[in-house]
Amino acid sequence: MGMDQTTPNILMTRRRALACGAAGFAGLALNSHAGWLDSLFNLSGAEAPADVFKGDAPSEELWALWCQRGWVKEASHYLKLDRNVQCKTCPNNCLLAPGDRSHCRNKVNRDGTLYTMAYGNPCTFHIDPVEKKPLFHFLPGTPTFSLATSGCVFRCLNCQNWEISQKKPEETKDPHGPAYRLRPPLPSELSLQEMSRLSLFPDDVVAVAQSLHCPSISYTYSEPTAYYEYAYDTCQLAHEQRLKNIIVTCGSIEDRPLRDLAKFVDAAHVDLKGFSDAVYQQLNAGKLQPILDTLKTYHELGVWFEVINLVVPTYTDDLEMIKRMCGWLVANLGPDRPLHFSRFAPQHKLEHLPPTPVDILVRARDAARAAGLHYVYIGNVREVPDAGTTFCPNCRRAIVERDVFSVTAYHLAAGRCRFCGTSIAGVWPA
Ligand code: SF4
Repeated sequence: MGMDQTTPNILMTRRRALACGAAGFAGLALNSHAGWLDSLFNLSGAEAPADVFKGDAPSEELWALWCQRGWVKEASHYLKLDRNVQCKTCPNNCLLAPGDRSHCRNKVNRDGTLYTMAYGNPCTFHIDPVEKKPLFHFLPGTPTFSLATSGCVFRCLNCQNWEISQKKPEETKDPHGPAYRLRPPLPSELSLQEMSRLSLFPDDVVAVAQSLHCPSISYTYSEPTAYYEYAYDTCQLAHEQRLKNIIVTCGSIEDRPLRDLAKFVDAAHVDLKGFSDAVYQQLNAGKLQPILDTLKTYHELGVWFEVINLVVPTYTDDLEMIKRMCGWLVANLGPDRPLHFSRFAPQHKLEHLPPTPVDILVRARDAARAAGLHYVYIGNVREVPDAGTTFCPNCRRAIVERDVFSVTAYHLAAGRCRFCGTSIAGVWPA
């Protein structure tokens, strides 16, 4: 479920997908940092690959233009199954015959090789305060250079960025006309036409972020797992140049690509969209367990991350479910992991629902605190004065106060509460 209304009738059925895999099994090879035995095991597991867009790879003419622009790169984690391929980047495990397009819309099988079309071609970028990600315990008050390409591994009914996340690369970019590579010095403004044909390769992203005095780059708005190769190369270069990398993600990613990427990640925002597999299937066309695995892996690897839970009326506003979620967070990630409850606003396919009532959000925050979480926030509300305030878990004083995305008071010194000296979890300015 979850395909949008514009989805063409070219989806590969589960039966056809399995047949496609079986036919090509003899020619199995792997283009991945992962062990091939692992991948072979997963291939024969119980989970069927996600629906893909059958025969929807771009025309020869468009492909040639895309290649000329440098907007194509061979995928980094996939299996070759004779002329079929299986992507191993996210749990969708797309199985593609030649000419097919992936579930996330960004990858295609060309003659037995899996390519991403979302490379060096962001469809949007901005400078945001890091609080907007939201990250409240990571270099507060700093700007972050934020970018996205088309595509997503999920189909969230409430997606606020569906105009890019549920689009193909060629619906957001235009390879016609003269090439345009964005490098410093930057123009004062860009026309829509320039934006649609501009390239921003990994070294350009780093140079642009540096020229704008942003200490970090955020991979955000859509889903970085859907543009993994672009995000990976950019993260690696940024890391070498001492810029921080922030991943804003739904958390649905396979273990090997996650661990490869995490070497260069300084902070992550991970959505935990609910605490029920049935809700994940209905609301997001996803699964819960891979998200829990991602949270545990980031925790194990010591990458700073914060958890975001959007409270959607009738889907994820059940207080008992919220209590179970908070219990799991405390038991598996400890009491110091920040949790942000976020208010739903009607959009995309859930325009008929009301915004989340504020009292539900306050009760969710109370439940999270009662479960033992030290840092609990409410986002997208103005009615709760301390919704974005960080309290010291020891002396209970307000140590960071915020007005939406601005820091208005800051009482930490080298990551410690100025009033009682308690160490506050996070990455703080020295
Ligand atoms: S990243 Fe895209 S192509 Fe790869 S498995 Fe996930 S949805 Fe499919």
